[in-house]
Amino acid sequence: MIFAANFKMNHTRESTKNYLNVLQQKLTAKKSADRVLIFPPATALDSYHGDFTVGAQNAYMARNGAYTGEIGLEQLEEFGIRTILIGHSERRDIFGERQEHIAEKFAYFKAQGFEIIYCIGEALEIREEGNEAVMAHLFAQFEGIDLSYEKLIVAYEPIWAIGTGRSAKTEEIASTHQALKQKLDRPLLYGGSVKPANIKEITAIEGVDGVLVGSASLDVESFSEMIFA
Ligand code: PEP
Repeated sequence: MIFAANFKMNHTRESTKNYLNVLQQKLTAKKSADRVLIFPPATALDSYHGDFTVGAQNAYMARNGAYTGEIGLEQLEEFGIRTILIGHSERRDIFGERQEHIAEKFAYFKAQGFEIIYCIGEALEIREEGNEAVMAHLFAQFEGIDLSYEKLIVAYEPIWAIGTGRSAKTEEIASTHQALKQKLDRPLLYGGSVKPANIKEITAIEGVDGVLVGSASLDVESFSEMIFA
């Protein structure tokens, strides 16, 4: 299983360091087949070593240059960061990243050999239209994305389940993952209100290769509880 923690705009450099120290002590008992990925905010990136991989929540598709407010390859290389989240719904919806831009970013970081956690998901209105509409929407988010990239991990995150405390139902996750897996031969994570109370049920679903966790990953005890559930 893959356990990924997206801190979003939470935690500082100091609290991330403390978090990773505590996490590492626990991870010595981790199953070797399990992987743990941590995405702290850009200001907390550093050269961490442990039984986890630290990745970037976002970066611009250039080595360096006149891109005010962004970080690029040079800033990631400083800390040996080789993993990135691309296409998160908050980047799409709050920061207006369109599919074309996302596909360009994907191509850039693929060319750099990064591991890419590529996020897709539908809004509630689309889910309410039924499965066909959901799949059409999700497949449109694969436009311009090389699904055969060997360092690709996909995360299915229904937007209506993100940060709401309301996870998708087992059947919704199962049928969506099954449909996605017909197009995809890469690990597929589920994200959306995953927490200690539902982790076992979610990781038991066929086609779920791991989870991407926001809110419930912010506390190291809660995140570790999920890894060792
Ligand atoms: C996310 O945004 O990636 C996420 C899954 O958030 P949460 O766990 O808080 O729903």
